[in-house]
Amino acid sequence: MSGENTAFTWIKKGDLFSPLEVLGRVAARLGAVAVKEGTMNKQWIKRVHHLPKGVCLLGVIGLALLLIGCGKAEEKPSIAHEPLSYKMDAFKPYISDQTMRVHYGKHYTGYVDKANQFLKGGGFEGKTADEIIVLTAGKKEYTAIFNNTAQAWNHAFFWKCLKPGSGTVGSELADLIIKSFGSFDTFKQKFLEAAKNQFGSGWTWLVLDGEKLKIVTTTNADTPIAHGLKPIFTVDVWEHAYYLDYQNRRADFVKNVLNHLADWDFVASQLKSSEK
Ligand code: MN
Repeated sequence: MSGENTAFTWIKKGDLFSPLEVLGRVAARLGAVAVKEGTMNKQWIKRVHHLPKGVCLLGVIGLALLLIGCGKAEEKPSIAHEPLSYKMDAFKPYISDQTMRVHYGKHYTGYVDKANQFLKGGGFEGKTADEIIVLTAGKKEYTAIFNNTAQAWNHAFFWKCLKPGSGTVGSELADLIIKSFGSFDTFKQKFLEAAKNQFGSGWTWLVLDGEKLKIVTTTNADTPIAHGLKPIFTVDVWEHAYYLDYQNRRADFVKNVLNHLADWDFVASQLKSSEK
């Protein structure tokens, strides 16, 4: 501890960046010194009474500010928990509300919470999820951060790919799908094949690859953005996404998402956002 006041050693460096926290730390240190002075003489009550009132007050204010500051740092998670724009039962009968409750409420929430726990004080403050994924991909020492951050990102993207009632495919997106796969039916067939043949847990994606669209699959938490690809649509093919409703019939689940739940307006918007 060598001269450092032990009262502060539990505070991680990364937590102390807001002016409020810095002010709190300085004021709390002054206050702690004042209290220490008193206790060393074993007449601390008397000594504290003899200390200038301003120093004592500064100590009290400082400790309060420090607690507020640290509390605020706690509230500032790196990875946001995305709210849903639809209700849990919005996808019945294709996805049950029970599946949505477990998938969104337990699995997705778990990834976001764990990502934020692992990221705490790890030097990634101020970075976006996309940046963290790129920085940690393929690095053994960051496996836990990558897995949970990428799963949080993949799920947040997946929730946006879904819409009750699906909607129609706009002309620009339809043209690109036809240019890339020959027809819309061929695209669906190829997407379904890729999802069906994927071994184990993972994701099936539609990504932009230069001038055309491409179907790719990723295993476990892996994500196209870790490989410099621009995803425009995805279906989660982890068993937790469909097992309660479909058991082993993954293809039926993916088919229903493609035919009834895919938000083609969102998919088209991703195409536009990649043109910038
Ligand atoms: Mn999932």
